[in-house]
Amino acid sequence: MSCIFCRIVNKEIPAKVVYEDDRVLAFHDINPQAPYHILVIPKKHLSTLLEISEEDKELIGHIYMTINKIAQDLGFAERGFRVVVNCKEEAGQTVFHVHFHVLAGRPMDWPPG
Ligand code: 5GP
Ligand code: ZN
Repeated sequence: MSCIFCRIVNKEIPAKVVYEDDRVLAFHDINPQAPYHILVIPKKHLSTLLEISEEDKELIGHIYMTINKIAQDLGFAERGFRVVVNCKEEAGQTVFHVHFHVLAGRPMDWPPG
């Protein structure tokens, strides 16, 4: 298994986990870009957003419910936060297992770089 996030799911590589259930895993990014930088991933391997299909609709909804729960639990729901998914190289995707960046704890610029 060469996918680094599948290896984190399988506990072959350690991560600072903030939430886990049968379908999703959320953990701190190793190179945080904000005071809070959590990655929320499906346990199912999907390389990019483009691989999401009809059968994953509930899973994707569950990921957003998980993001809301993390925002409440870690305490940044009230101030606000940003969710980013980079799809393919031009957008800056470097790990090819779909992941939702949840960034919080500082003002965010727009447009993004
Ligand atoms: P991307 O550039 O693909 O949108 O985001 C990949 C993210 O994964 C980056 O923010 C990077 O810091 C993070 N990352 C890469 N390898 C690891 C790792 O082994 N552990 C953790 N916790 N984060 C990682
Ligand atoms: Zn994977």
